[in-house]
Amino acid sequence: MKQIMPVPPPRAEVRVDLTALEHNVALLARTAATSGSAVMAVVKADGYGHGAVQVARAALRAGATWLGACSLPEAVTLREAGITAPVLAWLDVPGEDVDLGVAAEVDVSVSSLRELHEVAAAARRAGTRGRVHLKIDTGLSRNGCTPDLWPELVAEAATTPEVEVVAVWSHLACADELGHPSIDAQAARFATAHQQARAAGLNPLRHIANSAAALTRPDLHFDLVRPGIAVYGLNPVPVEFDLRPVMSFHSTVVLVKRVAAGEAVSYGQIWTAPRDTTLALVPVGYADGVPRSLSGRMEVLLGGERRPVVGRICMDQLVVDCGDDVVREGDEVVLFGSGERGEPTAREWADSIGTIDYEIVTGMSRPRVRRTFTGTSALVLA
Ligand SMILES: *Cc1c(COP(=O)(O)O)cnc(C)c1O
Repeated sequence: MKQIMPVPPPRAEVRVDLTALEHNVALLARTAATSGSAVMAVVKADGYGHGAVQVARAALRAGATWLGACSLPEAVTLREAGITAPVLAWLDVPGEDVDLGVAAEVDVSVSSLRELHEVAAAARRAGTRGRVHLKIDTGLSRNGCTPDLWPELVAEAATTPEVEVVAVWSHLACADELGHPSIDAQAARFATAHQQARAAGLNPLRHIANSAAALTRPDLHFDLVRPGIAVYGLNPVPVEFDLRPVMSFHSTVVLVKRVAAGEAVSYGQIWTAPRDTTLALVPVGYADGVPRSLSGRMEVLLGGERRPVVGRICMDQLVVDCGDDVVREGDEVVLFGSGERGEPTAREWADSIGTIDYEIVTGMSRPRVRRTFTGTSALVLA
């Protein structure tokens, strides 16, 4: 590729390694294939903050055959990018433009008669059949139809000519806690719901497994598995798998200064230099996705070494203590990554502040953060 102008070092940059992503999807596809199942790569929330369209294309190249989105607009965005693989959208709001979804041949999840009727009406207007996945609530109590209303929903779906029931599906509450009794309890309710759908004359696909179940419960693979976090190389279970983190977060030293012992740093002056030291200013803060609650609890990789961030993390800036080492303006700062070079990981951030890495990576989708794709397929896309 020809570069016309030198690219300045990034203020805040998320790098998305599509080679790592393809590796993860291929691993998930092989795992699913052992039980005759296929992969629906979940790309909701802009691909967990990685870029939904680019992630979707790479996942399909690596062996996923379906895509999962949360909202109808998310699903339609994939269609607008020219992606033709089956896409399921599972959480529309009343009055959301189901017509747009049906016209774009997006599969729509249905949890109630109201939703079923909305899809049927949209299909009638479009002169086509609406593809639906009937969702049974097996114990998460979010969306999905409760077991008591389920027989009525499947009976109505089976006798509504405007809809094609593609699948019966559900979602697990505790799949990441291996052996949790709720997993089998949900599986039993799922089996009953599937039998009832068949008794109503339907012959649907089945899917219930998120990443954790895709990796650890082959008995719950059924026709499709729906991994999200594992696609991005983050492991939700306490068992080793060869997953490679896809996202890394980078910035640049913009100012270096020497301060004397006793000088305090940043708002509230919660940190004071215990000795003369060199400070490096990095132009990222909580507006760029660095949680303020990491103040006093994070390190960055700078000049090949991990160094502590000192004082409060601000909206736009943070300060790194470099001791007596030589650091220069323009030096690269790695805030998190795969950990291969010794840098912190998204998991480490999450553990430090009592959250999950899902929240860290989805939190990096910010207007000020540049997103760059690397890896072989990034070239194909360019
Ligand atoms: C987000 C989501 C997934 C993927 O979950 P992971 O834990 O990221 O694998 C699967 N199914 C549904 C319904 C979801 O909302």
